[in-house]
Amino acid sequence: MQIREMEEAAEVLRISTVKAENCMQCGKCSAACPAGARMDILPHRFVWELMNGRVSLLAKSGTLWQCLSCFACSARCPRGVDPARLIEAVRLTVIRRQGANSINVDELPQVIDENMPQQAIVSALRKYNK
Ligand code: SF4
Ligand code: SF4
Repeated sequence: MQIREMEEAAEVLRISTVKAENCMQCGKCSAACPAGARMDILPHRFVWELMNGRVSLLAKSGTLWQCLSCFACSARCPRGVDPARLIEAVRLTVIRRQGANSINVDELPQVIDENMPQQAIVSALRKYNK
């Protein structure tokens, strides 16, 4: 495995704050996933591939865009692994590579819509300002 891929995997794990090493590959997350039928890499395998540093494979996966962020997988995980956050972290990594996901706090006042709920602003900052 290339060092760069290992570093990317470590960065994804850092962003997600998920303890993927606790995964025991039981598959409960995948069994609970409502979008699993359309995914090329199911949640339990997603965790496995990430643990093995295969960020490039995951970055090309349709799973990134099929995931509904419903967190059913995370709720069902008996080890508190939270696959949804891992998928989200890889999705963020891909979007960052495209240079499309940073929010500069100083620029926020110009882009805020007055009808935008405060939760959306806080959520966007959490998501795009890591
Ligand atoms: S449910 Fe949790 S422990 Fe089981 S495979 Fe999924 S992430 Fe791993
Ligand atoms: S968050 Fe994504 S991976 Fe997890 S159960 Fe929902 S659709 Fe499936």
